[in-house]
Amino acid sequence: MTSRIADVLIPLALDTAYSYAVPDDLALEEGDVVQVPLATREVAGVVWSLREGQGANFKKVTGVLEGPNLSPKMRKFLDWVSWYTLAPKGSALAMGLKFPDLDRTEVVRVGVRLTDSLPRRMTPARQKVIAAAQDGIVRLKSELAHAAGVSNGVIDGLIDEGVLETLALLQEPVAGLPDPGFGDTALSDGQGEAARQLTAAMSEEHPPVILLEGVTGSGKTEVYFEAVAEAVRQGRQALILMPEIALTAQFLDRFAARFGVKPATWHSGVTGRKRERLYAAIASGEVKVVAGARSALFLPYADLSLIVVDEEHETAYKQDDGVHYHARDMAVVRGKIENAMVVLASATPSIESRVNVERGRYRHVKLPERFGGRSMPQIRAIDLRRETVPKGRWLSPTLVAAVEETVGRGEQALLFLNRRGYAPLTLCRACAHRYECPNCSAWLVEHRFRRSLVCHHCGHVERTPQACVECGSVDSLVPCGPGVERIAEEVGELFPDKRAIVLSSDFPGGTERLRTELAAIAAGEVDIVIGTQLVAKGHNFPLMTLVGVLDADIGLTSGDPRAAERTFQMLQQVTGRAGRGEKPGRALVQTWQPDHPVIAALVSGDAERFYEEETRVREMAGLPPFGRLASLIVSAEEREAAEAHARAMALVTEPPPGVMVLGPAEAPLALIRGRYRYRLLVKTEREVDLQGYLRSWLARCPKGKGNTRVAIDVDPQSFL
Ligand code: ADP
Ligand code: ZN
Ligand code: ZN
Repeated sequence: MTSRIADVLIPLALDTAYSYAVPDDLALEEGDVVQVPLATREVAGVVWSLREGQGANFKKVTGVLEGPNLSPKMRKFLDWVSWYTLAPKGSALAMGLKFPDLDRTEVVRVGVRLTDSLPRRMTPARQKVIAAAQDGIVRLKSELAHAAGVSNGVIDGLIDEGVLETLALLQEPVAGLPDPGFGDTALSDGQGEAARQLTAAMSEEHPPVILLEGVTGSGKTEVYFEAVAEAVRQGRQALILMPEIALTAQFLDRFAARFGVKPATWHSGVTGRKRERLYAAIASGEVKVVAGARSALFLPYADLSLIVVDEEHETAYKQDDGVHYHARDMAVVRGKIENAMVVLASATPSIESRVNVERGRYRHVKLPERFGGRSMPQIRAIDLRRETVPKGRWLSPTLVAAVEETVGRGEQALLFLNRRGYAPLTLCRACAHRYECPNCSAWLVEHRFRRSLVCHHCGHVERTPQACVECGSVDSLVPCGPGVERIAEEVGELFPDKRAIVLSSDFPGGTERLRTELAAIAAGEVDIVIGTQLVAKGHNFPLMTLVGVLDADIGLTSGDPRAAERTFQMLQQVTGRAGRGEKPGRALVQTWQPDHPVIAALVSGDAERFYEEETRVREMAGLPPFGRLASLIVSAEEREAAEAHARAMALVTEPPPGVMVLGPAEAPLALIRGRYRYRLLVKTEREVDLQGYLRSWLARCPKGKGNTRVAIDVDPQSFL
């Protein structure tokens, strides 16, 4: 006899759905979230397909869980992500499914308050409850129990006796409804034309991917807000992806100024009940606009008509653990599946996106000018080979003079160095011992404010010792090289009566404090800002007229094929912080290589030429987007095991024409968190089926022993 069988995908690192028999009386559809037995547990999973078959021996589906199911489009998207990244299907599902919590009982929020009745029997515990509830406020049962210092049982007893009455608590909506007519911005001609192109494209039968390229301060946000407004007018949904959502209070305020309410936000800081309700409201279509970090791409939108990827060139869009995906690229795929328009916005687009424009796959909309007739900052290089910086100092005399002049006029200066902490390397003057992380092949970075040595790869922290741990010499530790904290020290000595602040991602006090400080800077309460890349992005500081880059060459020497592009983008972004207000800005860039194409392009303002040359270099080398890359990291707790497994894998590569497998080689970061790492790099021509090749190769590979692991990274962004 045949019966119904459900293939259920479980959100664990499993690549196949498991089959379960469907009880006759259970109404079930594909996409439903169900509860099923797995080994000795009950787990949640999603019905990936339903079919007829011989299911007598299968375990049964326990039941259907409340909450939104996953639409066919969403399942197609997750299947695609898993196919592309080679992550197990279940891992992809884990990103798209907010687990219904099987243990949670209190779904409806019930509040209680006092009635006029008195208890039949008074106890000290009951007395406490009545005293605590005297104010007449409706509280959750658990809150009242907590306030009175009694157990929930005491509350239940009083409800049974009618001393307390229960009422359902009204839920406030998770997000307000954006009003597209709230704060119509008067756009400049150029902005208006760009906005029209965007909104018109949204009604095309197959909405395009648009690269919205505009110099810093040109008003890209204002322009894509018009597309968001169009989505809301149509009653549909829009998603705005941002690299560092938690820091964008300024962005939320601008959104509120345009739409009357803040957008719903989705990031790792949104937790618990809030997260669940938001998830449901997005699935029902009640929430119209979501601004979120990359994970927001995996929410079950009911009717998505627009995805904006702001600062599309940002590396923060790449997830480098678990499922290795690039949110920009996956946004394009999701847009295709949902038939939604995708807008990639940047002042410094990735080479990938520009080449996609050239290939005719993306459309190009440009904003070549700053808003309000503001000029781009003047950029000058300071040649460190010619200008001497005093010993133990990092600011050249030219830069010092410029800072002095700027703050003397009541304007702000930003000093940029992309290095957290006080010094990147600490050694002992007496015995030359270098302080290294015990878990990683990396130097410990001194953080003087916290009096500690920190590993930036694994988070290992130790107190900065008084005496050398190696030879016992006292006060013998020397910091080598500068970090932002060391620059702050120098600034304090040079400008003792100016207000300076250091901003980096490890800012004490966390995101909340950081937000306050960013607002304070924008309000002009600080004279000199010393910061890492954190301050380079997106912020608008109207009084900032000088940007000094301390070491423009830092990123140029790494083995990363995108090193030049990244450095160019970062420098362009950070110098773009200057002169966004009424007053014109300038930037001074300290460099040892003023003739390097990156520096030359930055100073001349000729971004086009840089892009053309860099694109040609990539093409000649067959690097992305002209060829394809995948990296495989083999790691294990013992070096020999990692190396042996990487070699065993290399033996069975059998690369077809157009495919090269390089390595294995010890990774530049050979040890991270106690695991030794070897790399294999697959490089193919563009037309090659990279995923197909990887799958066939992995199927030939021997099983790794013990704790050996292989992480697959298609389109790697990091080469460490
Ligand atoms: P981008 O994202 O291109 O760097 P923004 O969208 O942040 O530029 O705009 C830069 C600044 O100019 C912001 O302070 C913004 O409020 C202002 N601005 C841009 N366009 C307009 C406009 N049409 N009307 C008023 N202010 C604008
Ligand atoms: Zn020593
Ligand atoms: Zn470490």
